[in-house]
Amino acid sequence: MSGARIEPRPAATVILVRDGAHGPEVLLLQRSQGSAFLPGAYVFPGGALDAADRDPRAARRVAGLTDAEASAKLGLSSGGLAFWIAAARECFEEAGILLAVDGAGRPVAPERVARLAQLREPMNAGRLAFAELLEAEDLYVPGAALVYFAHWITAAGRPRRFDTRFFLALAPAGQQGAHDASETVHSVWIAPREALARYEREEIEIIFPTRASLADLARFGSAAAALAHARALGDIEVDAAVWALDHEGSARLFRRTDPPYHEIHWSDPEETGKTCFVIQPGVPKRLDARVTRLTAPNPGVMTGPGTNTYLVGTDEIAVIDPGPAIEDHVRRIAELGAGRIRWILVTHTHVDHSPAARQLKALTGAQVLGRPRPRHGHQDPDFVPDRVLEHGERIALAGATLRAIHTPGHASNHLCYMLEETRMLFTGDHVMQGSTVVIDPPDGDMRAYLESLEALAREGAAILAPGHGYLIGNPTKEIRRLVAHRLARERKVCDAIARLGAPSAEELLPAVYDDVHPRIHPVAARSLAAHLDKLVAEGAVRASNGRYSLVRPPPAG
Ligand SMILES: [Zn+2]
Repeated sequence: MSGARIEPRPAATVILVRDGAHGPEVLLLQRSQGSAFLPGAYVFPGGALDAADRDPRAARRVAGLTDAEASAKLGLSSGGLAFWIAAARECFEEAGILLAVDGAGRPVAPERVARLAQLREPMNAGRLAFAELLEAEDLYVPGAALVYFAHWITAAGRPRRFDTRFFLALAPAGQQGAHDASETVHSVWIAPREALARYEREEIEIIFPTRASLADLARFGSAAAALAHARALGDIEVDAAVWALDHEGSARLFRRTDPPYHEIHWSDPEETGKTCFVIQPGVPKRLDARVTRLTAPNPGVMTGPGTNTYLVGTDEIAVIDPGPAIEDHVRRIAELGAGRIRWILVTHTHVDHSPAARQLKALTGAQVLGRPRPRHGHQDPDFVPDRVLEHGERIALAGATLRAIHTPGHASNHLCYMLEETRMLFTGDHVMQGSTVVIDPPDGDMRAYLESLEALAREGAAILAPGHGYLIGNPTKEIRRLVAHRLARERKVCDAIARLGAPSAEELLPAVYDDVHPRIHPVAARSLAAHLDKLVAEGAVRASNGRYSLVRPPPAG
């Protein structure tokens, strides 16, 4: 993991799928033991783009897809078609399967492909460009047949790095394919589930991105269903593996589905692999040039690793959520601030977020900003802001600007803060990492919570900095997922009311939360109350003598 950072090479991979006797099968090739990259592993056909793939002659040999369309699919400004060419070329070179049609859009007859197979050798040797073959035979790569499916980038620190676009394609009828006997030594049509089972039994080696694609495809009963799924995928998120260290200095590799993934990328944009992924209370974590996080030593069921206190700014600092009044924590904040703390901002006045404001103000003379504590809920009884922040108000620091966004829902006085220079959004308890936000009426309000989430989704944040847990990536997508999750629960409430016929809240609870452990039911009861309040307020449900009945179905989510 040391040494110069190697830029990943653009590459393309094709997952060929066909219907076998027991459901869909994919083509896997075994790389030779002498290969420089992944010796012995089973892979899909694919490889790095070469210069000829980018040739305008090659681009003219893709049918039904322009470079602008291809680039848009891949999220590139230009040059997208080269990936389609490379995918089809590698498929022919490595697997002997020609993804091509004639000028009338008809597939190439298998006998003709068999005849052309002799050209794989000069192609592999670099003496014949794929475009030349296509021109000579008057054939085209059918753009729509290669469906963009996944995007993987090899971690920094590897001797070879690839930035690989995965495509899914229906294997042309009658073409069996055969490995090229140089880079690859074995080829097999296999059901995705079977390939994974062989890997689990340690009979074959399959690397992570290949396994992830196999697991994805194992869900489908036919090749057509897999392709339909791929065609319906919206934005395809990159999965760029990244190294980070634990608190003892041991390196670990992270992928997109790992909770620290986005935080590691944000705080280590150079991919040095030297950033620590462990949240350690009391140990400051520098997230970027403007923001340092200090997690309070109050871990727990409701607080995760502890409350996150953020120090924002360089020459002047605003502290967001000083946290619980733990003397050590307050002293550490003041030390880190080193005389530069001017403002103490709170997101809301729950007891794990604001109580340290008083002590920190006493130590630093900073001004306390936020909204007054509401009457209900577990509020910090001592919180008194020096100034009440209104929605949209800006706090201008030297080199950083924070904007207050009123987000009632978890708490009626809740504020999020947008750091406008980097679009980092401090979400307090409105969005947390690693656990579900509690909506506890009457101060908690499900309807307001969802409206606030919608408003946050429209902010176009670059990253979320929550009150508990790691930074959260892909903010808009994540916020929309949270909304969908709550609306799905709301539909479950309505279904259960319809099924049970005028049930009480106690009767509804086990029906609506049959997927959570009964231990969690006391907390779930508060969320259920919040859902019922919302449905009653919206006129979808009627409450009478502690029993609930449906007035009309809720609007579809
Ligand atoms: Zn809270």
